Amino acid sequence: MTFDLTSEQDQLRDAVRALGRRYGHGYFVEKAKAGEHTTELWAEAGRLGYLGVNIPTEYGGGGGGITELAIVCEELAAAGCPLLLLVVSPAIAATVIARHGTEDQRKRHLPGLADGSAKIVFAITEPEAGSNFHRLGTVARRDGDDWVLNGRKCYISGVDEAGHVLVVARTEDSSTGKLKPALFIVPTDAAGLTRSKLDMEIVSPENQFLLYLDDVRVPAEALVGESLDAGLPALFSGLNPERITVAAMGAGTGRYAIERASEYTATRKVWGGRSIGSHQGVSHPLAHAAVQVELARLMIQKAATLYDAGRDLETGVAGNMAKYAAGEAAALAVDTAVQALGGAGMTTEYGVATLLGAVRAGRIAPVSREMILNFVAQHVLGQEKSY
Ligand SMILES: Cc1cc2nc3c(=O)[nH]c(=O)nc-3n(C[C@H](O)[C@H](O)[C@H](O)COP(=O)(O)OP(=O)(O)OC[C@H]3O[C@@H](n4cnc5c(N)ncnc54)[C@H](O)[C@@H]3O)c2cc1C
Repeated sequence: MTFDLTSEQDQLRDAVRALGRRYGHGYFVEKAKAGEHTTELWAEAGRLGYLGVNIPTEYGGGGGGITELAIVCEELAAAGCPLLLLVVSPAIAATVIARHGTEDQRKRHLPGLADGSAKIVFAITEPEAGSNFHRLGTVARRDGDDWVLNGRKCYISGVDEAGHVLVVARTEDSSTGKLKPALFIVPTDAAGLTRSKLDMEIVSPENQFLLYLDDVRVPAEALVGESLDAGLPALFSGLNPERITVAAMGAGTGRYAIERASEYTATRKVWGGRSIGSHQGVSHPLAHAAVQVELARLMIQKAATLYDAGRDLETGVAGNMAKYAAGEAAALAVDTAVQALGGAGMTTEYGVATLLGAVRAGRIAPVSREMILNFVAQHVLGQEKSY
């Protein structure tokens, strides 16, 4: 067992940290408040190879794994730039296409995802189904060589920035008559695909959308994989990378908040010559949050290591636990940091309260804390399924 990163991973971490700090939280918030995207940061990260670290080298990527992508997510977040689209495009879409796409799909999509010139977002959530994916109502119907998609999706991140959206739909299995899931790579400008932006209380340069699919016609090649049987494994292959990278983003955000608050409390003096951080009522909550973040980081490292070793089943448990732990730790860290900063904590200048919405959302999305507890109760504790 080792807790050390390899020297390449160390170098990657340092380089991503340096890039993130060059942009910083001020840049992230400025873009969010202007209704703009972090285009420059994304493009530079792509040029430097950080967006494609987990993509096979033959398609222009770095040939690493989710461990490397988690490092990228964590370090950018630790610099105050938690980029949600890292979770969607390189973690989910690139993994699904690399592992289950056809050779043509890999050649078409992976190089652009690797250098950051293309983004593919992910649409599974639906208004009626919510956390219950078995109730997905978006349907794909065969029409000659084409597929025709109808349905509605909600909270879909980054549709305005992406060339394609990976849509999870149902198809009918002709042998059983049962509806089974399939994934389609749909151009965001396809006829019949419309969107409306949701107003979210999150300071973020990335937006969420309602998506309407009305007779969206795509060719046979839009179906991920060689046949409909690829659907379920393709869908599941995206979930572990999603959980691990979103957890890494949470851990990075927690680190960022604790660092900002600790710098402040170590120097701010309101009771004579002693810093406010010398009062345990201030320092202990920060120390407690730091412990929670570090514990989450350990679980992220374990989950990423298992995933990169191809141990998918064990990753399911570790990835969910990492996501749970990091979601809770990030929310605790940001809230604690705001409190330790006092009034400054609520200012834009100190750059911590700007993260309250994002870390709160991290306890809901992409999988809620309750659904993880359901999973752990059932699969780890052997309890009867409750829903
Ligand atoms: C910022 C943000 C970005 C997002 N980006 C995307 C995206 O890019 N693509 C995408 O497809 N989706 C995205 N989502 C959607 C996200 O994955 C869902 O919000 C999440 O899965 C929860 O679904 P829901 O909102 O319908 O909640 P619901 O399913 O309605 O649940 C509401 C509450 O009830 C609880 N609950 C539900 N069922 C149970 C149960 N059986 N046991 C215990 N508790 C339960 C939930 O935990 C939750 O607290 C995003 C959401 C947010 C907030």
